[in-house]
Amino acid sequence: MTLHKDILDFLFPRHCVVCNTTLSIHEKSICTRCLLHLPRTDYHLVEHSPLEKFFWTQFPIEKAVSFFHHDGNKVRSIIYALKYHANPNTGIDIGHIYAQELQAESDFFSTINCIIPMPLHWMRQLKRSYNQSYYIAKGISQSTSIPIYNNVVKRIKNNPSQTQKNHTERKTNVANIFKLTNPTKIAGKHILLIDDVVTTGSTITSCAIELSKAPNVRISILTLAIASRTPSPTSPNDIPDSQIFGMLLTE
Ligand SMILES: [Zn+2]
Repeated sequence: MTLHKDILDFLFPRHCVVCNTTLSIHEKSICTRCLLHLPRTDYHLVEHSPLEKFFWTQFPIEKAVSFFHHDGNKVRSIIYALKYHANPNTGIDIGHIYAQELQAESDFFSTINCIIPMPLHWMRQLKRSYNQSYYIAKGISQSTSIPIYNNVVKRIKNNPSQTQKNHTERKTNVANIFKLTNPTKIAGKHILLIDDVVTTGSTITSCAIELSKAPNVRISILTLAIASRTPSPTSPNDIPDSQIFGMLLTE
């Protein structure tokens, strides 16, 4: 098996999605050097992280973590590889890495019953050919043995990008864009909702509101990155996404 992988790595060398150096056989998508220097949030190490407090202003979530601050080219390279370079396995690899860190350093997963990746509208998924959040969820699921529940909620509106919209417009833009299709399956469960990047939280909140129509659900959130200027819970949220994120990203 190792020999087989050695040969594959020799014939088809894999490269770090951040710095493009050739990966060793034990490295997954990101080289050890880049992994050490990425801007982690470490939200799982603090009680009531800023991300949790931020979501509490919008929806009563249980817990919220994000792997990295999205404040530089390194994390941008990861998100681009995952979303725009047709490299979904990056999501699985980083899902593994994050899950292993969370398991080693916290009890984050201890009460989670199931994982739900943020659904894409079918037209957007057809265009990209995959849902990047599903691949992150797959990595998390493989490391934790927590099952992924697909087909519980779907996105029924292919809403326009959130960029260039203010707070009120964003909320209107994402209102009722999800439809809960199988409430029985998640009744009484603690759900981990997974997305790639949280910018304003509007889309995640909209999905959480729809999931909460099932009886007695609890919802926690995990994302790979958080926009560096995600508004604080005490400040008004009137900043267009393009300014928050500093770049144009579509879902
Ligand atoms: Zn690297």
